[in-house]
Amino acid sequence: MVIDFHTHTFPDKIAERTIAHLSEVGKMPPYTNGTRTALLQSMRESGVDISVVLPIATVPKQERSINTLSAELNGKDNIYYAGSLHPDCADVEGTLDFIKASGLFGIKLHPDYQGVDFNDARCVRIMEEAAKRDLFIVTHAGIDVAFREHVHCTPDMVLEVLGKLSGLIDNKLILAHMGGYELPGEVLEKLIGKPVWMDTAAVMDLYPEKCVEIIHAHGADKILFATDSPWRSQKDFVDLLLSLPLTGEEKEQILYRNAKTILSK
Ligand SMILES: [Zn+2]
Repeated sequence: MVIDFHTHTFPDKIAERTIAHLSEVGKMPPYTNGTRTALLQSMRESGVDISVVLPIATVPKQERSINTLSAELNGKDNIYYAGSLHPDCADVEGTLDFIKASGLFGIKLHPDYQGVDFNDARCVRIMEEAAKRDLFIVTHAGIDVAFREHVHCTPDMVLEVLGKLSGLIDNKLILAHMGGYELPGEVLEKLIGKPVWMDTAAVMDLYPEKCVEIIHAHGADKILFATDSPWRSQKDFVDLLLSLPLTGEEKEQILYRNAKTILSK
């Protein structure tokens, strides 16, 4: 069984131009056309049984349509969805109540695309309210390829937030890209053993040895298999994970067991 905990799809009518735009600013070619249909096909071709889609509200007015659609589609065809809040959300509690009542496992934050630092008071408040409702929080972490000049979620900011929310978000925070895209050294130095999950999205191919080092140091019980499809190939990532020098037990934890516990909460 394989669960991909980090994918993106876009509504059919905006998929083409959104993918073209993101591909240009991030200088990365897409592996699918970004639609839900294409993700389903990728899953069939790669042996991924379940995908988790992480939408991002880049302006507050997108929240309602994103969360309504996530709620409507969640679980259908083995695709699960997160909700999303913008840091300037006008009704944090009501939006989170809707997300919780809809049965979604959590929310996605993307400080770069939301124009905010991860340790900003608005993000902290959203995370605090989400955690109170037993929702998970997935965040982009580390450098973003489209915003290289400023890192909006550094390991230091993560430590600051964990401290501020002392215990409340322990084991509810999922740091994408192995704790920090292109920052494996700093992740190893600062985040190992902290009560956070990390996902393998978009970095396992860049520095597989460092990923193995982080997995062994942090513990395979806190790592989620993830690709960042359509920006990475699900098939390539499944093959890559299976080829890493990890035990069968570690691979099973990463490929689906950890994700199952999160999705079934
Ligand atoms: Zn992503």
